[in-house]
Amino acid sequence: MTGPKLVLATHNEGKLKELRELLRGQMPGLDVDTQVVDARSAGAADVVETGVTFAENSLLKATAVAQATGLVAIADDSGLAVDVLGGAPGIFSARWSGKHGDDTANLNLLLAQLNDVPDEHRGAAFVCAAALAVPESYSVEVFAGRQEVEYGQLEGTLLREPRGEGGFGYDPILQPKGQGRSCAELTSEEKNAISHRGQAFRALLPRIIEVLS
Ligand code: IMP
Repeated sequence: MTGPKLVLATHNEGKLKELRELLRGQMPGLDVDTQVVDARSAGAADVVETGVTFAENSLLKATAVAQATGLVAIADDSGLAVDVLGGAPGIFSARWSGKHGDDTANLNLLLAQLNDVPDEHRGAAFVCAAALAVPESYSVEVFAGRQEVEYGQLEGTLLREPRGEGGFGYDPILQPKGQGRSCAELTSEEKNAISHRGQAFRALLPRIIEVLS
């Protein structure tokens, strides 16, 4: 049996699971459960997100992890872009209220800011950039140092009150276009099928297969 072949630059188990499901059965010879791993099990340290766009941050993370591990790496960066806020919170989505990762505080602050905004102007989207980075030391020379970015977007409307228990982050207040439910009321399969992250990873899939084949 061979060791890991692809590392996802995240510590988020949900994202790793989603990526493994996407890759399962796509490449003969790739055992997704043992050869697709997260950054921690590949021994890579956290990467500081100093970029100012989703694409920059996803590339920063993927490249740093590829160089640190010598493995092909992928990373994503995502957030919520609100139309009337000119795309904010954007790359600041995880720390909009000032405290990194406080989903409830972030969501409540955003709802308060948009309190007077009428329904027809409450458009927003989850956006995601997914990056692939190949280490300089890669055995197949033609792919060494390669970097790719793909994008995904889930458009919808912001509700006035959180709804649903599932998901994370801003899921309870984004109702996807054409849906009567918030993202937090969708099953994880329903969400993954339409999500910004799913779209971006699916767009990256042919590149991943090409490099790993
Ligand atoms: P990250 O790319 O996983 O660091 O996500 C950045 C932040 O964007 C998260 O902390 C959430 O606040 C928000 N976000 C990104 N994707 C989603 C999603 O699918 N649902 C809800 N919030 C999200």
